[in-house]
Amino acid sequence: MPTARVVAVAPRSPAEAAGLLPGDELISVNGEAVRDVIRYQLQSDEPHVEIELRRGGLEQHLVVDKLPGEPLGLGLSSAVFDRVRTCDNHCPFCFIYQLPAGMRPSLSVKDDDYRLSFLYGNFTTLTRFTEADLERVVTERLGPLYVSIHATDPELRARLLRNRRGASSLRWLHALLDAGVTVHGQIVVCPGINDGGALDDTFLGIFDRFPKLATVGVVPLGVSAHSREPELRAHTREEAARVLDIVERWQLRYLDGLGRRLVYAADELYLLAHRPFPALEAYDDVAQHENGVGMAVTFAHEIDTALRGETAAGTETRAGFFASVDGAPAAGYRALRVVAADTARELDRPIAILTGEYGEQVLEPFLPRLREAAAVPVRTIAIENSFFGGNIAVTGLLTGTDVARALIDEPGDHRYLLPDVVLSEGRFLDDRSLADLPRAVEVVASDGASLVAALR
Ligand code: SF4
Repeated sequence: MPTARVVAVAPRSPAEAAGLLPGDELISVNGEAVRDVIRYQLQSDEPHVEIELRRGGLEQHLVVDKLPGEPLGLGLSSAVFDRVRTCDNHCPFCFIYQLPAGMRPSLSVKDDDYRLSFLYGNFTTLTRFTEADLERVVTERLGPLYVSIHATDPELRARLLRNRRGASSLRWLHALLDAGVTVHGQIVVCPGINDGGALDDTFLGIFDRFPKLATVGVVPLGVSAHSREPELRAHTREEAARVLDIVERWQLRYLDGLGRRLVYAADELYLLAHRPFPALEAYDDVAQHENGVGMAVTFAHEIDTALRGETAAGTETRAGFFASVDGAPAAGYRALRVVAADTARELDRPIAILTGEYGEQVLEPFLPRLREAAAVPVRTIAIENSFFGGNIAVTGLLTGTDVARALIDEPGDHRYLLPDVVLSEGRFLDDRSLADLPRAVEVVASDGASLVAALR
């Protein structure tokens, strides 16, 4: 098993006081090998922590005395040390099979690990889940978890996952919900496969068998130009509208039978169907914001509130459990998006907001008021995603290649605002960095209030 390596020691932390250094390898903490950062959190919770470590090839023993529950103050090299559990499904819609060459290597890891679901909100199909995993989730109260449902009919689910265990693995979802674990679900709707009557059946299956699910996000199939699956195609406008009709009909049934909406359609479906988004209240606590469900109305609400000079309450991006895990790195999963971006601003320059084709549709109604707030010309540059191609139009999947292409003919004396959602640790999905762009850009956090602040 690879050992946990220290990559950072927080100043004035108990770890620094005890003499831990970056580069140290943790052999054990309180007598137990470090399997993952969740376990490490528990192992280092005690006021008296004994650490066996390797430094420069030599083993050492260190003792840390601290307050109970006080973090040690270490940054570790990975979230999981006994190997990420990879997925044994072959879903035709899997985005990893639709990637062009030259993507960040970490994007090609097909994980199906409940620990990454807990830490980062990654979806798991539970096809590799075990009795021991269930016991750990329940005893260590590892929730919320995020589970890919796609269909509740066993045969259809096995077909969608291309794995016969897909037919039976929702028994684990049952067990998790019965044990009181909070679980959010997701359905990727593929036209002609699990939409229409099959989607109705799935919602009925959820009503009958999994009514304790916290939320279920319904997202449309994304098909890049690199997909080699002939049966997959993008939704037409009418098909997206039919999916919305089914979701909204079931929201009423769930409200009636369970007292809550339970299912929510992704923003992309409303854009595909050319329908207005529901009011923010219709997303309840916007629990699947990070998955593009209710993100557009949240963003609009944040812009609106910031333009009125107020602070939007309760709509900030959820950092999740990750934010509270001492030691967990984000690299490779939901990393810090920007390393450093402190560009001197010349505030009297015209402004262009770089965004995806869908992002432009969300921003467009606000442009007159954003211009007023900025007191300079403000426009959007909707960047076509030619790197992925197909129907990929969300801002978060823009690559450096496409941003560079969009900027090359733009004037040099404008300010260009780039949402941070396109970056992970300062790099685009295609591994390019801001230095590869032909114009200087200002990276802005991907919430409405930050955009308004940048304009002012
Ligand atoms: S479960 Fe997820 S990672 Fe695995 S093949 Fe399906 S979509 Fe890809």
